[in-house]
Amino acid sequence: MARFEIERVPVLEDNYVWLVHEPAANVTAVIDPAVAEPVLAAAQRRGWTITHILNTHHHPDHVGGNLEIKRASGCTIVGPSHDRERIPGLDVEVSDGDAYAFGAETGEVFFVPGHTRGHIAYWFGGSDALFCGDTLFILGCGRLFEGTPEQMWKSLSRLRKLPDSTRIYCAHEYTQSNARFALTVDPANDDLKARAAEIDRLRARGEATVPGTMGEERRTNPFLRADHPGVANAVGLAGAEPVKVFAEVRRRKDTFR
Ligand SMILES: [Zn+2]
Repeated sequence: MARFEIERVPVLEDNYVWLVHEPAANVTAVIDPAVAEPVLAAAQRRGWTITHILNTHHHPDHVGGNLEIKRASGCTIVGPSHDRERIPGLDVEVSDGDAYAFGAETGEVFFVPGHTRGHIAYWFGGSDALFCGDTLFILGCGRLFEGTPEQMWKSLSRLRKLPDSTRIYCAHEYTQSNARFALTVDPANDDLKARAAEIDRLRARGEATVPGTMGEERRTNPFLRADHPGVANAVGLAGAEPVKVFAEVRRRKDTFR
């Protein structure tokens, strides 16, 4: 396990770009480069040559560095077929169920619409790594810009079936505000309370909270727990269908301050 060497590159306000090195084949992918310069600099510091960009969706803070990194490195850009017109420099289109070979590792592609209509995630089971863009955050999920609650609940329900040990490499450090919100919709969850306290300690020291693990998320992320009675009760929807509970939790988060 954990064949990948992964470097976190913090950029812009709260984005994380991930540099993923597969040492056996000496290939390096950039996940969702918001910008180019700090990513190129980080790769150079590690002595890694960028060979791939893997995009999850088309938002500018995920593809903004595509063309400049491609010019500098000649890398191959991989992204969702549903978004072929919206991904700058796209070379290889992938879609749900595809197995994408990256060096000695293989990434399974999940079509996870909701945040955008074309969003995908890459799961590398051999390295226990999930690159999920803006679909799943630590203790949160992406806003529904182009999708419905039904789509997002289905997408998250697929991701939460991944093994407990799966590390979640999402694209933003939103965890502390997500935790404050989560406590309002899952107030009786002791695992969540303990985790929120730990997150406050980490952030007070200026440390990152990403990646987290799927096991932790299943116990504490309210967007993965819309079928748990504690969450349904807390939003006044005891006994309702999980998708209704999910929609209400997402609606509340949209206006949470
Ligand atoms: Zn986005």
